[in-house]
Amino acid sequence: MTGRALVLNASYEPLSVVTTRRALILVLADKAVLVHGTGTDLHSAMAAFPEPSVVKLVQYVRVPHQTRVAVTRRSVFVRDGHKCQYCGAQAENIDHVVPRSRGGDHSWENVVACCRRCNTRKEDRLLEESGFRLSRQPHAPRSRLWLLAASGEVRDEWTPYVVPVLGRAVGL
Ligand SMILES: [Zn+2]
Repeated sequence: MTGRALVLNASYEPLSVVTTRRALILVLADKAVLVHGTGTDLHSAMAAFPEPSVVKLVQYVRVPHQTRVAVTRRSVFVRDGHKCQYCGAQAENIDHVVPRSRGGDHSWENVVACCRRCNTRKEDRLLEESGFRLSRQPHAPRSRLWLLAASGEVRDEWTPYVVPVLGRAVGL
């Protein structure tokens, strides 16, 4: 993986993922400091700079608390630990608890990770009709840091900053 850098708030909390070039611009503008490099250099006409993997903002940025994260297959899988929320097997699909054909919406509260078997057996039925039970009530992730999980791979250098926060968000 190349080209992406983690931006930390001045408090070391992960904030966003940007291109490494954008991260370098933040560093050169004294808006951020380099925390970890990727081990390679970015070249300009005049000079070479270490390619940033993790940068930290100099000034603390207030983050709006309620940023909704898009309900995608990937983000739902991350929230549910890739486990079927009915039987605990490896999830392969997402399921609308109240089926869309029955008026269910595509929201965090109504979408869960689901294995193929349960998905097929539940069909377009409500829980009380199918006898299926959720292992826990689905809810929206509390943190926008979920974007990190949904945005793709996590570099090794990001792990110390990202994993504890993701763990809290998922309730691990
Ligand atoms: Zn299942």
